[in-house]
Amino acid sequence: MQKRAEEFMQEVIRKNPGEAEFHQAVREVVEAVMDHYGANPKYVKARVLERMTEPERVIMFRVPWLNDKGEVMINRGYRIEMSSAIGPYKGGLRFHPTVTLGILKFLAFEQVFKNSLTTLPMGGGKGGSDFDPKGKSDNEVMKFCQSFMTELSRHIGPDTDVPAGDIGVGGREIGYMFGQYKRLRNEFTGVLTGKGLNWGGSLIRPEATGYGCVYFVQEMLKTRGEGIKGKVCIVSGSGNVAQYTVEKVNQLKGKCVTLSDSNGTIYDPEGINEEKLAYVMELKNEKRGRISEYAKKYKGTKYLAGKRPWGIKCNIAFPSATQNEINEADAKELVKNGCYAIGEGANMPTTPEGIEVFQKAKILYAPGKAANAGGVATSGLEMSQNSERLSWTKEEVEERLHNIMISIHNSCVKYGKEGKYVNYAKGANIAGFVKVAGAMIDQGLV
Ligand code: NDP
Repeated sequence: MQKRAEEFMQEVIRKNPGEAEFHQAVREVVEAVMDHYGANPKYVKARVLERMTEPERVIMFRVPWLNDKGEVMINRGYRIEMSSAIGPYKGGLRFHPTVTLGILKFLAFEQVFKNSLTTLPMGGGKGGSDFDPKGKSDNEVMKFCQSFMTELSRHIGPDTDVPAGDIGVGGREIGYMFGQYKRLRNEFTGVLTGKGLNWGGSLIRPEATGYGCVYFVQEMLKTRGEGIKGKVCIVSGSGNVAQYTVEKVNQLKGKCVTLSDSNGTIYDPEGINEEKLAYVMELKNEKRGRISEYAKKYKGTKYLAGKRPWGIKCNIAFPSATQNEINEADAKELVKNGCYAIGEGANMPTTPEGIEVFQKAKILYAPGKAANAGGVATSGLEMSQNSERLSWTKEEVEERLHNIMISIHNSCVKYGKEGKYVNYAKGANIAGFVKVAGAMIDQGLV
């Protein structure tokens, strides 16, 4: 079967040249599902995998806008509508200078399987721009968002494609884009998720990815008779996912000792308690400052310029910044230092060589498409509330989120058991695949 997977990959690489992250994401799925796939002639006959790796639609567009000096700026906008087999396209928008077609195709591809795992009816998509919100005024961000939405609005809708946030797209950006969509279409609909609470947003959506990731790790730990209490955790990133990971770990009486951004890492051996986390949220979400400022404020904290957190001793690691942030050497160091559980809050944060290190060491490794699915799941719950024109309580949304994470964990165990060890990556890929493949076959050749 490995030969068959390799032949398949060669064709994917030939058709999508230069898109290394897309190749990486496809390879992971193809290698995991190939045995199951090959054993099912109906999949092979319908060429399900070939169709899954070809986006249903790719939209690329120019985004012109004026900066505060009145200069003309040009960015590129994208939306990848990967699969609508089980529901409307659903997935975030990323605004970051590293955004390319290949990065968004990898994210859209992952999203298809992740959304399938959530148990909710959502297809997969992703989009964004190479626009960098860092250092821009609110006015510039608004101008950009309005121009971006002017084109995107032709392609999305509450029953067609429902974008959300991702790196560089938080409440502020969703607000500006929603405002422009409403103005252009003269419709107040649930076309985006991650909305403000006063205008259709769901309680717990901001918290959902981080909380969900910690819940998933809690389920993995239970299989070894353990919990989060008393565990030392390291977290990368300091944005949405990282912040609420720390909050949930604190609630469950664990201790997080690191956060980072693209300039460096802070290491606070005392732990990032509630008060310090409130400072980080203000620093990052309102002042839009750098994490190095934390070390100036809290004595006893070290700032590791240009470094990631992986050299710090811990029990659990939560990579929550970006793709490929843990390489083989980092993975070896984590395992050597006694880390025995990984919860991927970010998408594809570990390289394939790094994943192999974790799996060979038989530690608990939760891949992003399972561990961080709580964000999109709660976006799905936001869509349900919008359709009902009702808002659920915080407790109700969080309970549903918790149950979804338990259900995703169970699916991974069902398809990922290898003797006593659970290969969560394999489990997540097969469980996600089976549902989408079945829907594709039922719906004929489209
Ligand atoms: P934010 O923009 O809120 O935060 C991103 C954080 O990661 C920032 O601290 C940022 O630092 C850091 N970061 C971004 N790019 C890099 C890079 N190239 N190198 C080092 N650090 C980097 O994004 P989110 O927290 O929303 O997203 C984080 C990850 O979680 C992403 O992989 C995203 O796809 C994934 N995810 C997010 C979901 C959500 O609901 N938001 C849902 C599922 C997955 P800096 O400020 O210096 O850029």
